[in-house]
Amino acid sequence: MNQKFIPLSVPNLKGKELEYVTHAVETEWVSTGGPYVNEFEEKTAKYVNARGAVSVQNGTSGLHIALQVCGVTRLDEVIVPTLTFIAAVNPVKYIGAEPIFMDCDDSLCMDAEKLKDFCQMQCSFIDGQLINNKTRKHIKAIIVVHVFGNMAKMEQIMEVATSYNLKVIEDATEAIGTYYTNGPYVNKFAGTIGDVGVYSFNGNKIMTTGGGGMVVSDDAVLLKKTKHLTTQAKSDELYYMHDEIGYNYRMTNLQAALGLAQLEQLENFIKIKEKNYRLYKGAIEEIAGLSILEFDKNIRSNHWFYGLYINYDYPLDRDEVIRYLSTKRVQVRPIWGLISEQIPYVDSQTYKIEKASDYVRHVVNIPCSSNLKEDDVEYVIDCLKKL
Ligand SMILES: *Cc1c(COP(=O)(O)O)cnc(C)c1O
Repeated sequence: MNQKFIPLSVPNLKGKELEYVTHAVETEWVSTGGPYVNEFEEKTAKYVNARGAVSVQNGTSGLHIALQVCGVTRLDEVIVPTLTFIAAVNPVKYIGAEPIFMDCDDSLCMDAEKLKDFCQMQCSFIDGQLINNKTRKHIKAIIVVHVFGNMAKMEQIMEVATSYNLKVIEDATEAIGTYYTNGPYVNKFAGTIGDVGVYSFNGNKIMTTGGGGMVVSDDAVLLKKTKHLTTQAKSDELYYMHDEIGYNYRMTNLQAALGLAQLEQLENFIKIKEKNYRLYKGAIEEIAGLSILEFDKNIRSNHWFYGLYINYDYPLDRDEVIRYLSTKRVQVRPIWGLISEQIPYVDSQTYKIEKASDYVRHVVNIPCSSNLKEDDVEYVIDCLKKL
């Protein structure tokens, strides 16, 4: 039998993508000036209920700008998670600032308790500034990542941020569509709780523009500054006057054409992902040694990525599962290597990294595309059961 390949996460472009992109080509608006860019910004802001949105070339460039508009400079430090994709942290270094790595909790997102402990025990609050006792540097911001479409504990994190005057940048690159259904932030979307939020529309994300991203905020000043920096910091359109160092980070009309068509389908993608997640979960709970990571009970998650936890009583370990499933033509992948262990960051400060190391050893991501059919899910489950 010829089993078809089941990829981890691939785009789903069966809506109006071709129509809108064709329109962009036919009207010859292919660059950053076209009407789809503004429309995509407006519709994204509306969808997540933010005051405004500014398009960017990708999530990474969005995070780069977010740090700048939050006032982070090369003299500062930023608290970041160690368990996530490295693009969440590299922008700190682009600016010349230093990261301090924090552990995760069972949501895989930043541990809010440890964050609080670190600020209390390892720092001093002097003249309204949080100073790192070890380096004497000013810690200016936190980057919180909503891992796999889950939500970090924003209530606690915002409390810490308020107590110590920290800016909060939400890396919601994996979490567009996730929002609270309970608690003080009920109906607030991932990315709209801190000072600035960033989404990514890379090819493996829940919706894609090929490559692209969006910065959102409720702060009109920050939004204006973001737009300015992403469009070469031009202060006069006609005479080409520039008042600071800007970037060419704006999205093109072609990307935005894809984005608009994808946004129309986002709620449907989320429904499919949630349904497939429940199918996996029901079956995997019956298999000794396996479980599937849960999403926070107080949110409607976008269910972007599913985490399969492989315990010691399962016959195969993480790497064996990856190899075995690849012989079955099922693509799975370990979660990222910890960022604090990557070559550029080995000398960076860390604080009590424990859980993150455990999760890296035990978790793989299993196929989760919105194209995935029930049969595909059942096939993956069958492979996992047959051991
Ligand atoms: C995808 C991703 C990014 C970067 O987004 P790009 O659009 O690929 O630049 C940043 N952080 C996290 C957590 C991501 O998953």
